[in-house]
Amino acid sequence: MGIPGQMKTIGVIGGMSWESSLLYYRLINQAVRDRLGGLHSARMLMYSVDFAPLETLQHQGDWDGASAIVIDAALRLEAGGADFILIASNTMHQVAEAVANAVNIPLLHIADATAQQLLGEKVRRVGLLGTAFTMELDFYRQRIEQQSIEIVVPELHDRQMVHDIIYQELCLGKIDEDSREVYLAIIDRLRAQRIEGVILGCTEIGMLIDSRHTDLPLYDTTAIHCAQAVACALQA
Ligand code: GLU
Repeated sequence: MGIPGQMKTIGVIGGMSWESSLLYYRLINQAVRDRLGGLHSARMLMYSVDFAPLETLQHQGDWDGASAIVIDAALRLEAGGADFILIASNTMHQVAEAVANAVNIPLLHIADATAQQLLGEKVRRVGLLGTAFTMELDFYRQRIEQQSIEIVVPELHDRQMVHDIIYQELCLGKIDEDSREVYLAIIDRLRAQRIEGVILGCTEIGMLIDSRHTDLPLYDTTAIHCAQAVACALQA
């Protein structure tokens, strides 16, 4: 439990991948500094998992095994004094419900944060880029579609390329000019389907593409999740 009057302690389940956890750490601290000024920084705990075994479980479809790893991390954050929890990966929200049920502190869901942002900007039809799990399974899309926002995903071959670049490059910190062109071409094909913007539904994609690369509005889930976390931490 936090000290009255103090900002809440944010608990981040990181390491999925650590390249994007770095962004969480930076963006959350920057936002607290911007809001409170001076030397203020976030009260934050991060528990960072070993991504390799988790990635194997994902690709084997063993979501119970993956869930056990994330629940263990959540319990450690709760025991360490976190007031609420973020899962710093869109994909791992596949097990968000199990994680939320395992702890007594709230989980700030990345898809809810994103849907709120889209609703605030009156966006009703949007492209989605992320891992194949995020683009194809129900756990993510449905949560946003329930808010009356239509989701458009790339066709199969494009989804495969988006997925492979995430695991083979971005999660390893590799930023490749050709891969950026691949992503931008895929965004252009989505644009032909009358979308109003694109959800960067993977916490590493913002390392590859940002608003300098396309005039289509981009909804970077890492930035949105961090902004919501800080709003929650600073709420009176
Ligand atoms: N960080 C990624 C995401 O937001 C992908 C890595 C993972 O599978 O967790 O979906």
